[in-house]
Amino acid sequence: MTTTYPLHAGFTVADQPFPKHADVVIAGAGIMGCAAAYYLARRGLSAVVLDKSRIAGQQSSRAWGFVRQQGRESAEVPLMMASIPLWETLERELNFDLEWRQGGCLYVASSDDDWTSFQQWMDVAREHGLDTRTLDRKQIDSVVTGMQGPALGGLYTASDGQAEPRRAAAAFAARAAEAGALFFEGCGVLGVERAGGAIAGVVTERGTIRTSRFICAAGASSWRLLKTLGLELPQQAVRGTCMRTNPLPPVTASTFWGHGLGVRQRANGAINLADDMQVDVDMTFGHFRALKWFVPELWSQRQKFSFHLNGACLRDLRDRLPGSVPQSERVLHPRDPHPQPNVSHAPRALAKLRSLFPALKDAQVVESWAGLIDVLPDGIPVIDAPPQVSGLTIATGFCGHGFAMGPIVGKLLAEMNDGGQASLDLSAFRLQRFFDGTMQRPRSML
Ligand SMILES: Cc1cc2nc3c(=O)[nH]c(=O)nc-3n(C[C@H](O)[C@H](O)[C@H](O)COP(=O)(O)OP(=O)(O)OC[C@H]3O[C@@H](n4cnc5c(N)ncnc54)[C@H](O)[C@@H]3O)c2cc1C
Repeated sequence: MTTTYPLHAGFTVADQPFPKHADVVIAGAGIMGCAAAYYLARRGLSAVVLDKSRIAGQQSSRAWGFVRQQGRESAEVPLMMASIPLWETLERELNFDLEWRQGGCLYVASSDDDWTSFQQWMDVAREHGLDTRTLDRKQIDSVVTGMQGPALGGLYTASDGQAEPRRAAAAFAARAAEAGALFFEGCGVLGVERAGGAIAGVVTERGTIRTSRFICAAGASSWRLLKTLGLELPQQAVRGTCMRTNPLPPVTASTFWGHGLGVRQRANGAINLADDMQVDVDMTFGHFRALKWFVPELWSQRQKFSFHLNGACLRDLRDRLPGSVPQSERVLHPRDPHPQPNVSHAPRALAKLRSLFPALKDAQVVESWAGLIDVLPDGIPVIDAPPQVSGLTIATGFCGHGFAMGPIVGKLLAEMNDGGQASLDLSAFRLQRFFDGTMQRPRSML
């Protein structure tokens, strides 16, 4: 059964006067914007978060909920190693049930290619001193119960965990608001005003807020907003589908990827299920923008992408006609996308799940949803204060694995916007890497 995804995870924005000034203005109330507002407010800064739609309405409430260090590009590992201790104490700190479970992350190799890539990734783990190890079949069976089918070996990080995306960003928002941050939904950021090259104000649908600090955390729409500032970001969006089952007998407290399945079993037994790392690309004319950046990975990782020529293309064409979308609103378009799940994933994933874990023979999909994943060509985000626009910080392009990074990125954004430097090295995440020849090819774009 497919249901529309229930958005908004329990935090209601109070009606409040629109501010004329703020220390920091944030575009986007996903987990990045909400976490940044929380840590800024804790530092005593006035933060205003504006979302063109609603709090956690996009990726941040639609994620699978893996909180993993494992399998990332090397550049991201120090950030994730700093994010895990934040997750470990977050429920207590926010006084909010986030369904945090630190049961590890297990990848199971059923092919020689998988096994080789796991062993190669051990070099990254060793470089950073991470607790990842390879497992033999007996050890795999101590992490998952009753798994059938072959396993050449496993890759396991015990300190990894999981949390519920419907709760985390909203929890940050709620506690940020209590600490003084202001949130406005249905209020898009249209651009910025500058004085002498530096940010002087943020132009919104409800008026201009005077500020010298602006954070662009606008998810898959960030490229549109940055374009108004004269900055190019080679960002595209792909559609990821996720499903949830009925409560089932426990098979693992670890997040699991293997045999073409992504599995996260919540404490109540329900499983967040994904049909491998398959994503859909709904072709539009917009995909030609920045295409040159993506061609090498689209080709080398082509088994992950399904391309569709569907209604998205017609809608895109209609929206490009003169007068269809007012010029001033193009930066906000589409305001509140409702991507639909790929219906072919559920039967395929269920069949794989039941055959891999016979104890789950009664599994049914009770809910499925999709989210627009913002991707960059090298599979890692931009977290940067580019010198071209003084006062601007960018945090976007988390390529399908930013939920786990939310707490640490929020903390770093607060450090950067409180007159200081980020406490971690962010040089790998500079925007300029796309233009100065330092961009690295990713292990995986997602
Ligand atoms: C199906 C799926 C599964 C995933 N699984 C995982 C996982 O298991 N683990 C993991 O770590 N990550 C996962 N991710 C990725 C993760 O969800 C994202 O990387 C993360 O949520 C990005 O957060 P964000 O705040 O940058 O963006 P978003 O949550 O997309 O928020 C951006 C916000 O900006 C707003 N906005 C845009 N333009 C403007 C504007 N001009 N003015 C005002 N507001 C604006 C939007 O309305 C939106 O609310 C998954 C994503 C998907 C879709």
